[in-house]
Amino acid sequence: MRQTVYINGDLTTMNPEQPTASAFSVCHGKFNSIGDREKVLAEAGPEPEIVDLEGRVVLPGFIETHNHMSYYALTRLMVDCTPFANKSIADVKEKLAAALAAGGNTELIMGWGFDDTMMTDRRHLNRRDLDGIVSDIPVFIFHASGHLAYVNSAALAMGNITKDTPDPAGGEIHRDETGEPTGLLLEPSAIELVGAHLPSPDTGTFMTALPQAMAAYNRTGVTSTHDAAIGIAGQGPGSIEAYRALEKSGRLTVRTYLTVLFDYYDSFIEKGIRNGFGSDDLRFGSVKLFQDGSIQGLTAALKEDYHNRPGHRGELIMPQEELDRLVAKYHCLGMQIAVHANGDRAIESVITAFERANEIREDTSLRHMLIHCQMASSGHIMRMKKLGIIPSYFINHLFHWGDRHDSIFIGPERAARMNPLGESLREGLTFTLHADTPVLPVSPLECIHNAVNRKTRNGKILGEDQVISPMDALKTFTTDAAKCSFEEDKKGAIASGMLADFVVLSDNPLTVPAGRIRDIEVLETVVGGKTVYKKDQP
Ligand SMILES: [Zn+2]
Repeated sequence: MRQTVYINGDLTTMNPEQPTASAFSVCHGKFNSIGDREKVLAEAGPEPEIVDLEGRVVLPGFIETHNHMSYYALTRLMVDCTPFANKSIADVKEKLAAALAAGGNTELIMGWGFDDTMMTDRRHLNRRDLDGIVSDIPVFIFHASGHLAYVNSAALAMGNITKDTPDPAGGEIHRDETGEPTGLLLEPSAIELVGAHLPSPDTGTFMTALPQAMAAYNRTGVTSTHDAAIGIAGQGPGSIEAYRALEKSGRLTVRTYLTVLFDYYDSFIEKGIRNGFGSDDLRFGSVKLFQDGSIQGLTAALKEDYHNRPGHRGELIMPQEELDRLVAKYHCLGMQIAVHANGDRAIESVITAFERANEIREDTSLRHMLIHCQMASSGHIMRMKKLGIIPSYFINHLFHWGDRHDSIFIGPERAARMNPLGESLREGLTFTLHADTPVLPVSPLECIHNAVNRKTRNGKILGEDQVISPMDALKTFTTDAAKCSFEEDKKGAIASGMLADFVVLSDNPLTVPAGRIRDIEVLETVVGGKTVYKKDQP
């Protein structure tokens, strides 16, 4: 087969044996030879296709280890209630009214991404706001954290939620002083009271929405992802079938590792499917569990009170014994487990469960993941290291919510050591970073920027001693990220025999001033030797 030879590049390979190079060749979707132009051309076989990179920067493709690509795909079909598109509740109402007037879907209005803490009103939506738009059609809006939802009276009725409905385990139906539901539902068990009645998106919907979502990921240099809650809200069958169909037809432009909700995973485990099953393009991944909510939603489980709400520490989603049982079950099956935990009490609970499982069956090779892990203590870092756990830190919180963590939710002391990357690095703990899209926009370069700068939106540096170098930040999206799917021999570096996934950038994150990393442009993204995004090309 005719090879493609790329010359005049400025390569950072992330392969320690050959850290830099100026040329490389691609054959059958994999890197072939890497070195200088003479060497690569000599090894390229007859009449290679030559691509002149004109001195541009080349890095391995970015691997995003925690986000929700299929759910993000669906949000693109909903009303955009994010703070990126709205300043106030009035703006959100206007968008919802416009969607209703447009009349696309007259049976249900769905929105996503509302963030009370970033609206000028600084308050939650309530059912009166939403009834004001429409009262006889259900309105359902997800909070940006994904842990809260707002519904109108028609949606409450659909879920049979009244004054007398008790709070479900692990969730809360928020109520006013008279006990009437306000329309705010907290945590998945409460959200599901209404969510279970919403139509599940079918394969066709995902077939339309996923390619657009993947194109958006490719624009930011993402070539691989962990889709992190497959099976949520009945979306499992539709999304998996669409992924498989896209893979078959060669339209999967982001290699996807499916992290599947534990109860949905059971049906596959019964058939003998374990993490690792699949192809380089689409693979079953870890088992997903949740142990708390979000800090800004005040649903993360903390050891000490919230700064702005004395007496309130948030709740664990599962009692310790229940988490212990589930973790031990999957650990003993040899499955990789990824558990969501933001607050220090939830992190403590999850690490304890892993320690207990490891006493039953000693195995530190499963690369369990602790997702978000924002309030990890020094002790937590050491215990994770001992167990071989890989935390994926939600670094972009520092920029987007950092000022409010500092002054509102957890106070300056705890905010300064959120996402303790510097300490993790010093302890030799392997970790990755993520944007949790659609919670925040997908952008590896922004994550790397925030890991290196730790600056809030208002310009305050949170925890100078937790800053890491651009090279260490880059590892969290390449070599170390590849370890999270046991694929470090296949991707994360530009090396002979590895998958030809790479990005061409306008500048080098290792050499630009630290404050400008986020301004670097992705010029081209290549997956398996195929260009899936090129700037200025439709
Ligand atoms: Zn998530």
